[in-house]
Amino acid sequence: PASKLPQIGTTIFTLMSQMANEYKAINLSQGFPDFDGPSALLNAVGAYIAKGMNQYAPMSGLPVLREQIAVKVQRLYGNPITADEVTITSGATEALFAAIAAVVRPGDEVIMFDPAYDSYDPAVELNGGVAVHLQLHPPSFAIDWAKLKAALTPKTRLIILNSPHNPTGSVLTAADMQQLIELVRDTDLLLLGDEVYEHIAFNGQVHQSLNRYPELYERSFVVSSFGKTYHATGWKIGYCVAPPPLTTEFRKMHQYLTFATCTPMQLALADILRDEPEHADNLPQFYQQKRDLFCSLMSNSRFTFTPSAGTYFQLVDYSAISDLPDKAFCEWLTQQVGVAAIPVSVFCQTPPEMRLIRFCFAKSDETLQRAAERLSAI
Ligand code: PMP
Ligand code: GLN
Repeated sequence: PASKLPQIGTTIFTLMSQMANEYKAINLSQGFPDFDGPSALLNAVGAYIAKGMNQYAPMSGLPVLREQIAVKVQRLYGNPITADEVTITSGATEALFAAIAAVVRPGDEVIMFDPAYDSYDPAVELNGGVAVHLQLHPPSFAIDWAKLKAALTPKTRLIILNSPHNPTGSVLTAADMQQLIELVRDTDLLLLGDEVYEHIAFNGQVHQSLNRYPELYERSFVVSSFGKTYHATGWKIGYCVAPPPLTTEFRKMHQYLTFATCTPMQLALADILRDEPEHADNLPQFYQQKRDLFCSLMSNSRFTFTPSAGTYFQLVDYSAISDLPDKAFCEWLTQQVGVAAIPVSVFCQTPPEMRLIRFCFAKSDETLQRAAERLSAI
C-alpha cells in the first residue's frame, strides 16, 4: 500500500547517533545530557518500584504530579490553573501529537516556523492538515510578525510556537508576546506552545510562556517535558497545560494514544517538584556555564556563531571550513573529525541561506573540551 508519509525516513537524531556510535565519535548531535539528574529523584523511582507502585496511573496523570505542576505554573508564570488543566503524557512528543490531533481537521492550515522541530509536520499531515512553513532568518531567528499576519487565511487553525527554540536557541521576548496578543485578538486561532526548554534561557531572560498571558492561555496548549529539566530524556514524561475545554479534547486523544504514563516516575517527579523547586530555578545558570565553556573553547576554531540565547544547543556556521552541504558536512565531521552534529537544513522546507549545524552542549565539561579540541584542529 502507498505510504501515508512517503517523504519521511528515519529521523536525523537516530541517524546521527547511530553514525556517532559506529565511528566512535563524540556525540553532540541528538539532544541528551551525558549526566544524571538529582540522586533523590533517581532513588525515589527505585523505591516506588520496590513498594509495588507498578500498575496503571490514572488516564490524565497522577493527581499528586498534576497538582505540583499547577503549583509550578502558578509560581513561575502567575497562571491560576488547577490540576484539572494538566495532563501527563509519554514525553512532549506525545503531547504535541495529541494537541494537533485534537484540533486539526482535514484542510486546516497549521503555521510553524523553520527551522522547525521534526515532529510537528508529520503530526499535522497525518491529521489531514496543511503545514505552512515560515522561515526564520539568522542571526536573530526572530518571528517576522508582518509575514505571519500575511500568512493567515480563513483556514488557519493553529500556530505552533517553540521557545526557547530548538535548534536555533532563539527566545521569544515580551514584545513578541504583545504582537501575538494583537494577532489573535478577535480570531478563533489556537496556539500550541512547545516549551520543553522553559528552564533553559540565558542572560537573565524571562521565559515568555503562553501561561503568562490570559488572552493567549485561553486558546493554548502549553507543552513541556521533564526530560530536559531533570536530565532524563529516556524517561519520556511530559505534560500539557490547557484550559478545560481544550484539555477535554486533548485527553480524548491521549486516552487512545497511550492511555496513561509510567507510574513510579510520576510519583518520583511529584516528590522532586515539591521538595526541590529550586532545581528548575538553577537550571539557566547550570546550562549557561556549559554554553559559555563551549563557546569560549570554540572561539579558537574556524566555526562562527552567536552564543545561544536558550536551550542546550549551539548553532554554528561552518562556511569558513567547507563548501559541503550540511548533511554531507556532518557525515564528514563524524567520520573524519570524530564529532557528531545535526544539519539544520533537515528542519527547513527551503534550505537556509547559511551553512549551519547544531551542537548539543548538555555534556560533561571534559566531553566539551575533547570535542572542542577536535573541532578547533580543522
Ligand atoms: N520539542 C522539542 C523542541 C524538543 O527538542 C524535544 C526533545 N528533543 C521534544 C519536543 C520532545 O520531548 P520528549 O523527549 O519529552 O518527547
Ligand atoms: N529533541 C532531541 C533533539 O532535538 C531529540 C529527540 C529525538 O531523538 N527524537 O536532539
